[in-house]
Amino acid sequence: MKSTAIAAAALLLASAVPGFAQGYPTKPVTMIVPFAAGGPTDVVARIVGEHMSRTLGQQIVIENVAGAGGTTGSTRTAQAAPDGYTIMMGHMGTHGAAPALYPNLKYDPTKDFETVGMAAGTPIVIVARKDLPPKDLKEFVSYAKQQNDKLNEAHAGIGSVSHTTCVLLNVQLGIKPTAVPYKGTGPALNDLVSGQVDFMCDQIVNLVEQIKAGSIKAYAIATPERSPALPDLPTTKEAGLPDYQVSAWNAIFAPKGTPTEITAKLNDALVKALADPNTKKRLEDLGGVLPDENGKTREALKAFVAAEVARWTPVLKSAGVTAN
Ligand code: ASP
Repeated sequence: MKSTAIAAAALLLASAVPGFAQGYPTKPVTMIVPFAAGGPTDVVARIVGEHMSRTLGQQIVIENVAGAGGTTGSTRTAQAAPDGYTIMMGHMGTHGAAPALYPNLKYDPTKDFETVGMAAGTPIVIVARKDLPPKDLKEFVSYAKQQNDKLNEAHAGIGSVSHTTCVLLNVQLGIKPTAVPYKGTGPALNDLVSGQVDFMCDQIVNLVEQIKAGSIKAYAIATPERSPALPDLPTTKEAGLPDYQVSAWNAIFAPKGTPTEITAKLNDALVKALADPNTKKRLEDLGGVLPDENGKTREALKAFVAAEVARWTPVLKSAGVTAN
């Protein structure tokens, strides 16, 4: 064997043993966002990614791999080399609801990933184009029942947060609006602002700025308490739809088999990002709910994902929704 070949073989061997994780990361880390740029998952990824890059000493590069309600980017991550250089920002749809909706899903959220950590809880807000006639949630409910399939509902694809959370709303109201799928709720929001679609259920972090600017209308937040980011917005309970309670989240995952040294290092960088006053403020100003101490661990996210899959599967099956 030539000496270069020996060196190459040695390098290959080195990368196969845990010790190689010690120098990690030695090059930029790709964080897959399974939706279009500009939406909530993308925004959360960019905010935490920026601070994590500083801790890691290497850039976290966001790659938007949109499609099929986020399952395309999640499949790509699950199948990537487990070397810490491909991770993803997942959410309640990709790692909670998707198995109930895609019988042929190419990944199992509970088995095909290593958990890195929770980035933010993201309450759901019901929003509409600014000139939709109903003034409040009660009026919206009667209007929606009367308009039914004439109403256009924007969502980010089957199994996405916007899709699944509006499915629950539609089932409660007994309506079947016409769905308009997008590659993420970033582009969906643009169309809501320009009045091309009527309403949407989405993660608060996508909506606060447009609600404050008055370029869209918000009817209610589907959590027990109001959000400090939108203190004037009533809860669904206050606004007359107490049974509509739903909240989403964004969290970081790595492919199964990524060494623990690496996921621990990534978790440490995430925890530091969430403790940084500026990063924290940016997320909270958008309505993000940061995890408490116990909720920041890799183990907590693992248990949470299993609970989310178990929670969503019967809910969506009984609502009779599938991707096929
Ligand atoms: N919020 C979106 C969803 O409905 C996705 C996105 O982040 O664009 O799943």
